[in-house]
Amino acid sequence: MSHSLDLPPLDCHAHIAHDVTPAQIRPLGDSVIFAMTRSLQEARQVVQRQDRPLTWGLGVHPGLPAALEEYSAETFRRAHPYFAVVGEVGMDRRGSIKTQQAVFESILDELQDQPVLISVHSTGRIDPVLDAIEKRPHPGLILHWFSGNPDQVERAAGAGCYFSVNAAMTDEALERIPEDRWLPETDFPSSRARTKARLPGNTYPLEDRISHIRAMTPPVVRQRAYRNLRDISTKSGAVARLPKRIADLLATLPVH
Ligand SMILES: [Zn+2]
Repeated sequence: MSHSLDLPPLDCHAHIAHDVTPAQIRPLGDSVIFAMTRSLQEARQVVQRQDRPLTWGLGVHPGLPAALEEYSAETFRRAHPYFAVVGEVGMDRRGSIKTQQAVFESILDELQDQPVLISVHSTGRIDPVLDAIEKRPHPGLILHWFSGNPDQVERAAGAGCYFSVNAAMTDEALERIPEDRWLPETDFPSSRARTKARLPGNTYPLEDRISHIRAMTPPVVRQRAYRNLRDISTKSGAVARLPKRIADLLATLPVH
């Protein structure tokens, strides 16, 4: 199914191999996809890439012991000016909470006043993630696939966070997210089975769900997503680092 829309699909959290070829990228067309990396080593491999649909992230995945071990504040500090998006970072139910906390807090310290979007993983360790965020607030934070209860959603929203949501989430979880704070994602490939997303950037099933939940047409849902992206990108300053194509798209949106 497709909708005739002016705005291309927007996917704020997907995983794409750092050695993906131009032929593999071509089917993604004009999509706007934030492609996470999982380690500084992986990020090093993509920093020079110019892939029209992809905005690569600088990641240190909390569920990967090797990524945490390899982390150093100094390396991260040298790398982040090359990225508009940091992700994915955060905390995970597996592994040492102490190590994850130290790395995540160090990343948030390094990013204070930096014009970036930060895609945060919080599976199984939501409260520790929110503790860290409240101590070091940042206007570019996006909690990805957030499974918090209503109190935790409220707490995160109070700290200024946005939320990237996908079609594998329940209606209840989607309804909980404030209208002006959600962004679309696929988390490709890990949500593939549940969302039938065969490619990153396939947010049509999600847009259909949201259009029912929020009683909007799919084109309005997509426009809302871009307005939310514009708002967080403006507040955080990340718009200055985003590819010109995306900044231009955001500039054409209606103000309200
Ligand atoms: Zn992810």
